[in-house]
Amino acid sequence: MKLFNILKNKCPNCSKGEVFTNLYSLGIPKMNDSCKKCGFNYTREPGFFWGAMYVSYALAVAESIVTFIISSFFLTELFDLKKIMVIAIVLLLLAPLNMRFSRIIWLSLFKNS
Ligand SMILES: [Zn+2]
Repeated sequence: MKLFNILKNKCPNCSKGEVFTNLYSLGIPKMNDSCKKCGFNYTREPGFFWGAMYVSYALAVAESIVTFIISSFFLTELFDLKKIMVIAIVLLLLAPLNMRFSRIIWLSLFKNS
């Protein structure tokens, strides 16, 4: 699994084709059915991407921890309600990216199965 391929929205099989047609934009994500360069099937069986929820959850937890640490520089009280608000806002803003990256990561984990 290559981190740069995930960040650059590249096919987990050949690293050339794109998985999403609109990775870094708002709006409804559009995923290609298969890789345009190597034909790698992205759609798999029904329900395949349910597992990507676990990846999405892990990403959200990691982002929450990072946001908590960064917000601690500005909000010095340990249990400040504002930190929860900041974390919620950051998670909402990152949700579209989380969904897309979790799918690409999930595809990369199971590319050989
Ligand atoms: Zn490919």
